[in-house]
Amino acid sequence: MSKKVAVVTGANKGIGLAIVKGLCKAGFKGDILLTARNEKLGQEAIAGLQAEGCKNVIFHQLDICNQGSSLKLKKFLEEKYGGLDVLVNNAGMAFKNSATEPFGEQAEVTMRTNFWGTLWVCHALLPILRPNARVVNVSSFVSKKSIDQCNPELQAKFRNKDLSEEELCLLMGEFVHAAQTGDHTAQGWPNTAYGTTKIGVTVLSKIQARVLSETRPGDGILLNACCPGWVRTDMAGQNASKSPEEGAETPVYLAMLPEGAKEPHGQLVWDKTVQEW
Ligand code: NDP
Repeated sequence: MSKKVAVVTGANKGIGLAIVKGLCKAGFKGDILLTARNEKLGQEAIAGLQAEGCKNVIFHQLDICNQGSSLKLKKFLEEKYGGLDVLVNNAGMAFKNSATEPFGEQAEVTMRTNFWGTLWVCHALLPILRPNARVVNVSSFVSKKSIDQCNPELQAKFRNKDLSEEELCLLMGEFVHAAQTGDHTAQGWPNTAYGTTKIGVTVLSKIQARVLSETRPGDGILLNACCPGWVRTDMAGQNASKSPEEGAETPVYLAMLPEGAKEPHGQLVWDKTVQEW
């Protein structure tokens, strides 16, 4: 049998780095690919983990906004491992509250990374998932807050159990367009670029889980969205309540759900607990 392999995106620092460490400490039996868009930062992170005793960590470059980069990773995984066992889509970004870029630009840039980048990685890597694979999309509790701020019509669209990936993509595009024309609040969108991208990640996870259940029944694959909590990283700042290691607990729990587990699947999970959506 081929060696098992896990991939964590955006893992040179913050929660992603803590997830790689958490997988290693939880005894993941296989290689853990710490991916980062910047090779030097990724290699430095690997050196730090190896010094802490994590020997099964390997670097691979991945810029989630570059489709070619995802396809190179796919080829590497196919050739070296013959598939993929764990995928943690952690990479993400947020503008600071003090950012001066116009809201429409913030919406486009944030959407490109958090939603489209995550989607492109999934398009490349979900087809090579092995039976019993685990996929964790790092979303946020802000996605729940933000869907509740949408008008009733948008809420109904996002909560429609038959929503397709294509329809979700169109909705994300509509938000960016409305943000650029300054009409987003008038059209019923919440006044948050980050929050709307994370609605996209949570709803995408529900759609992907449904499609996996339909197309690969019996393969035991579990896919969920999660919130790490409010975590002290470059993104959230040092006043946040959790350490990166604490923030990694729920993603690692979902990535390590034992073989044979039937749930959670297609859920938004935080503090290891399924949340109402
Ligand atoms: P950080 O800003 O500390 O780390 C973000 C990571 O994502 C970095 O490694 C960054 O790389 C990487 N990244 C950004 N863009 C890309 C890209 N195009 N390709 C590859 N990697 C990329 O943030 P956190 O660790 O706090 O956040 C991790 C995840 O957790 C995000 O998805 C975030 O939205 C989510 N989250 C965080 C919360 C918090 O309180 N911190 C709360 C809820 C959710 P680089 O160093 O090169 O920029």
